[in-house]
Amino acid sequence: MKTDMILLSENIFTAGSLGMVSGGVAIADNKILCIGSKEEVLALADEDTDVRDFGTKLITPGICDSHVHLFAGAYMMSAPYVGGYSSAEECAKSLYEYYQAHEDEYEEGEWLSSCGFVIAEWDDPKPPTKEILDQYFPERPVYIYDSDLHAAWVNSKALELAGLAPDTPDPRFGRFERDEQGHITGYLVEEAQNPVVRLAFNIPYAKERKLMEEKSEDICKYGVTSLIDMRALNNYNMGNLDVLNDMADEGALKFRYNYATCLTGTIEEALEHTEKYGDPEQMIYYSGVKEFVDGIVVAHTGLLLEPYTDDADADYNFWATDLEYDAQRVKEYHKNGINLQFHAVGDGAVRKTIEMYEDAIAENGETASRMSIEHLDMSSPKDWERMSKAGIICSVQPQHLALFPTYEDEQYADCVGPVRTKSLWAFKSMLDNGIHLAFGTDFPVVSYDPRISLHRAVTRTFPDGQPASGWNPEQKLTLWDALYAYTWGGAYKTGKEAVLGSLENGKLADIAVWDCNLFEIPVDDILNCNVELTVCDGRIVYEV
Ligand SMILES: [Zn+2]
Repeated sequence: MKTDMILLSENIFTAGSLGMVSGGVAIADNKILCIGSKEEVLALADEDTDVRDFGTKLITPGICDSHVHLFAGAYMMSAPYVGGYSSAEECAKSLYEYYQAHEDEYEEGEWLSSCGFVIAEWDDPKPPTKEILDQYFPERPVYIYDSDLHAAWVNSKALELAGLAPDTPDPRFGRFERDEQGHITGYLVEEAQNPVVRLAFNIPYAKERKLMEEKSEDICKYGVTSLIDMRALNNYNMGNLDVLNDMADEGALKFRYNYATCLTGTIEEALEHTEKYGDPEQMIYYSGVKEFVDGIVVAHTGLLLEPYTDDADADYNFWATDLEYDAQRVKEYHKNGINLQFHAVGDGAVRKTIEMYEDAIAENGETASRMSIEHLDMSSPKDWERMSKAGIICSVQPQHLALFPTYEDEQYADCVGPVRTKSLWAFKSMLDNGIHLAFGTDFPVVSYDPRISLHRAVTRTFPDGQPASGWNPEQKLTLWDALYAYTWGGAYKTGKEAVLGSLENGKLADIAVWDCNLFEIPVDDILNCNVELTVCDGRIVYEV
């Protein structure tokens, strides 16, 4: 077999049985032909082989971001982010100023979407109203997600198009903010967004293609070669799969696109996706279904085992979906070997998800289905052994442990009290219990830049550098473990570890070369290092 490329370095983190290797990786077509000593791999070269010596710079498997909302994020961020303002009025005005300069890019009737507002940042922290948007956007429907995607702000036109009357009743999980007359005001929480989302995110092919191409160009700069797009949001499968498919056919897709659909779909649909996109060696891959089981703890919509510490009246035991329905669907999907990904943030939601997964295993035995819990901010130490035993994957986002700019702003400790705070984002304990970790970001909630996630996993500090020794420092990971969760962990989560996730002979050639040896630099410098070369499917997709 002809060797196309050889990458040499004294420091190759394989995430595989070889551990750290000094030598090289020989690539033929889209696979790793050989990883071994310099002599071994150079013996495979001929005059056409592209040989690159990176000295002591670190080579790792390509990064896998195991939880993003790629299409939703790209689309929302195509208009300016509206965070960092002191009022709803300022947010609306900033969006209008952008719109005035870009009006010709919007077709008639097309929605304008954005994201990022944070009510708590405003001088008058009250839910925003449709009237504030209506004064700027009387005709064009507008949809703005808040910073964590669990609520949205819309104008009157959006409500009209979605068929929402002033007195439309609240959904089971979520609510419409209402005025004194009980009329909908334009602020939609959780499932109240559902009727609007499917209209707002149905955009023209050409626009979606442009957004995905821009993302494809950018993501590979960070050494990210795989991601899992949670296309399921608000009971709707977002985005047009044709866009990705066409990009893959034309060689314009520079990362492996794994995607998850709504649990509420049918088994037949899931099996059709598997039939079409079930080859782990292809660039597009169906990675099962996704569902929400609770909201977020700081908004008191997380499902807890015990009451909230700061609000005894908050309903801590509220299940976001129909528990019996979910448990039944889990069994069906598991039986058919479809991966399951459940958003569970509070320790109560985590436990209920574990129980559903355990019941499915008890009924079906072991199948090809990989079962993960997404986010998993809180978990009871009593549940770690169970998760390990059931083989449940903890799909976590290290950046989430410090979503506020300073440690002083941190809100979790108030919500759940000091005892439960000790087991928040318990990455080290999970590893010690033999649980598989997969790292991700939840883009656009935070950036998909893996440097920030790696840094946070090993330091557990907020952006202000506090607390200096780390928040729950006993839960810090080593860089080795963090990189492993970000590479092999993601491959395992999709069930692809036999062909991807580590640098081993015969595996797919997805590789990142960094501009230094991350293991040798001061930990804060991780934030400033760069990726120098990204190889995806044996092809150079980015180089400095
Ligand atoms: Zn998410």
